[in-house]
Amino acid sequence: MTTLAQRLQSVQKRITDAANTCKRKPETIQLLAVSKTQPAEAVKQAADCGQQCFGENYLQDALPKIQTLTEWGYQLEWHYIGPIQSNKTRAIAENFQWVHSVDRLKIAERLNEQRPDSLPPLKICIQVNIGNESQKSGVAETELYTLAAQINKLARLELHGLMAIPPASANVEQQHAAFARLRRLFEQLPASNSVDTLSMGMSGDLEAAIAEGSTMVRIGTAIFGPRKQRKK
Ligand SMILES: *Cc1c(COP(=O)(O)O)cnc(C)c1O
Repeated sequence: MTTLAQRLQSVQKRITDAANTCKRKPETIQLLAVSKTQPAEAVKQAADCGQQCFGENYLQDALPKIQTLTEWGYQLEWHYIGPIQSNKTRAIAENFQWVHSVDRLKIAERLNEQRPDSLPPLKICIQVNIGNESQKSGVAETELYTLAAQINKLARLELHGLMAIPPASANVEQQHAAFARLRRLFEQLPASNSVDTLSMGMSGDLEAAIAEGSTMVRIGTAIFGPRKQRKK
């Protein structure tokens, strides 16, 4: 039987190996543990191993979990990575340090207005629809730089970079091509002090993502095991 601690260690080793293979420094790649659908107890176990950053997709599940971990005395960094409905922006702005899934101005404006003054600016990645898949979230590549310029004008948001979930592919060349495409878009973002994050790579494709320049991999099942079906 493998424990969560062992799985976390083997993900860390995959990151280090992938970085070494392409002569990057392993410490330039952050691990975001995606704890969606997992209980607070699992987050606690990962936190006890030193994991600091956690990603959540479903607000209703995330809020009680964040509260529980805070009550247990943990100071963790929470990243919202799921689709955003406008009626959820206030709770996201109040409870998360990062949002990776901003893909339209209206949502950015609401997060900006609702970010409490007592907190530092909310760190943002724009989600890009790489490959323009019809049912996928993410801004179209052609509209990316307009949205980036608009977000740069919002004082309570701080644009850090780009995120994408490329079309699922077991073909390693296709994985590389999609990640390389996002990296080129990232390199053309207007330079600023805050732009430093290329959020790409999941359990099945983190090696390809790191080879193409990922600075933050978002890993769920490889750390926590299979996800339980979510109750509606
Ligand atoms: C679920 C999810 C992940 C993690 O996926 P795994 O394949 O379990 O590693 C990463 N990013 C986003 C946006 C997700 O929704």
